[in-house]
Amino acid sequence: MSNVIGIDLGTTHSLCAVFREDGPVLIPNLHGGFLTPSVVGMLESGEIVVGSAAKELRVTHPERTASCFKRYMGSDRTISLGKNTLRPYELSSLVLKSLVSDAEKFLGTSVLEAVITVPAYFNEHQRQATKVAGELAGLRVKRIINEPTAAALVYGFHARDQERQLCVIDLGGGTFDVTVMEVFEGTLEIRATAGESMLGGEDFTDRIVSAVLQNEKLALEVAELKHPLRVARLRDECEQAKRKLSNEEVVRIRLPDLDGTIPENPKEFRVDRKAFADLSEALMQRISTPIDRALRDARLSPQEIDDVLLVGGATRMQLLRDHVASYFGKPPIMEFNPDEVVALGAAIQAALIENDTAVNDMVMTDVCPFTLGIEIAKEFGGQTTAGYFHPILHRNSTIPISREEVFVTVSPNQHQVEVRVFQGDARKVVDNIALGSLLVKDIAPGPAGQPIYIRFTYDLNGLLEVEAYSTGGTKHRTVLTNHVHGLNEDQIKDAIDRLQALKIYPRENLEYQKLARFCERMLGEINREERKQLDRALDYFEDAIASSNKEECERAEEILKAVLAELGIEYFENDDE
Ligand code: ADP
Ligand code: MG
Repeated sequence: MSNVIGIDLGTTHSLCAVFREDGPVLIPNLHGGFLTPSVVGMLESGEIVVGSAAKELRVTHPERTASCFKRYMGSDRTISLGKNTLRPYELSSLVLKSLVSDAEKFLGTSVLEAVITVPAYFNEHQRQATKVAGELAGLRVKRIINEPTAAALVYGFHARDQERQLCVIDLGGGTFDVTVMEVFEGTLEIRATAGESMLGGEDFTDRIVSAVLQNEKLALEVAELKHPLRVARLRDECEQAKRKLSNEEVVRIRLPDLDGTIPENPKEFRVDRKAFADLSEALMQRISTPIDRALRDARLSPQEIDDVLLVGGATRMQLLRDHVASYFGKPPIMEFNPDEVVALGAAIQAALIENDTAVNDMVMTDVCPFTLGIEIAKEFGGQTTAGYFHPILHRNSTIPISREEVFVTVSPNQHQVEVRVFQGDARKVVDNIALGSLLVKDIAPGPAGQPIYIRFTYDLNGLLEVEAYSTGGTKHRTVLTNHVHGLNEDQIKDAIDRLQALKIYPRENLEYQKLARFCERMLGEINREERKQLDRALDYFEDAIASSNKEECERAEEILKAVLAELGIEYFENDDE
């Protein structure tokens, strides 16, 4: 049995699994749950915490936490965390390191290799950034696979002897993916995939936050700048409300004061399912487009889909379930936990790579989710105009795939050509995503029309390699993703230095930190008398943690938990509830 772990590196939660004899199993984190919030925080002491403690900190100290950074993977964006400035892949590597520590504890051995999942719609830059994050966490990334594909692997693992058409709908915190696949005799064939990398459950929460603020004639962005603590608390309240709406008809949101605390008799904002549906209308409209597209590419009608599999926490929204049921004319299947299925699938993929005997009757094929091509010039009325897109690999081609096409120079004695590579389906390159470029230099002199050969190779990790050469000239080759927004060796070294400079909070005390930060958050939600009591117990606890005396910590923890119980505040050891 191998120790290659499967990791679901999510926008809001991350988790990991490993393949054992009879199938994949989830790996618990240090708090005993499976979901680790993808949040990084900095304590007052300057030490870094990852996961639940950081998530608690986000409400009271948003300026010292970073979350949802997966949304910016592969971009130039930097994220500030206290006095540090970090890149999305650096923050992701901290989350990965935390998962690896949990896995090492669980397996009792070091963990060096992993399969990491990404949304199907992640482009080259985003995939490469994910790989870099894995490497910064000390992992050899054996494969990057698409999240819906991973989910489908779990389904296929359990339905090996059947012949079915499956549609996976994955709505996570920040991304939305749809995948259509066929399962027959242990073979899983991905037929089409489509999605949107800027649509997720967090947007639904933001709609509620905006509605509350709009009531006060405030735009979310303005409110966030002016009263960050208030918005952080309000977002937390709205997030809870949104989740409750998955089971309840009506919820009331307590409105925090400007300082981010909830007053004794707070004003309330009432939301029922209908109001939530109205607020979410524009978002829900965006749900159908990728489903339509994936089905069209797979040449199937909604009725031809046998099973609809829901993945991602946001698919718990009744709104989404109703929409999916009416779209496909059947309710989705509920056999698998939408939070866990991607990590389990990643562990199955790891077993496939390692040729584990338990999966040797399974075969899987995946597709390239986007159209990839280059810029060309077209001739209109004797005039050549550049800026047109020419596809080389069409979206939803089965991977791995390699294709070569021949192009020609446009001017006499043209000695070089810049091959500019794009992703997208638009006719003009400006409307597509620029992935990088490649210079073909030593073209032999001659009239216009000299051939230039361009080969695109898309591998199983979803990484693109482009080769270009002229007759007799040298081959210019690039794995385009090496160009990820300037991520070269120096920058990787920089990242390592920056990460090493961070002081990481000792993991053995992380549970205490989580409890302390939870209590700090609760201080803002209770009345003055209660606050005094909790504050006193918290001071005592913080003092004990600082003393690093185990016995004292345990005693203070007990007292603190007793106070919480007395105040009727429920505390969950893990975040999975
Ligand atoms: P990711 O993979 O992007 O981290 P998850 O699959 O963990 O995302 O889903 C997170 C999203 O699911 C969040 O936006 C969260 O608000 C939402 N979510 C989780 N539970 C519920 C629920 N019970 N009802 C509605 N939304 C939920
Ligand atoms: Mg996810």
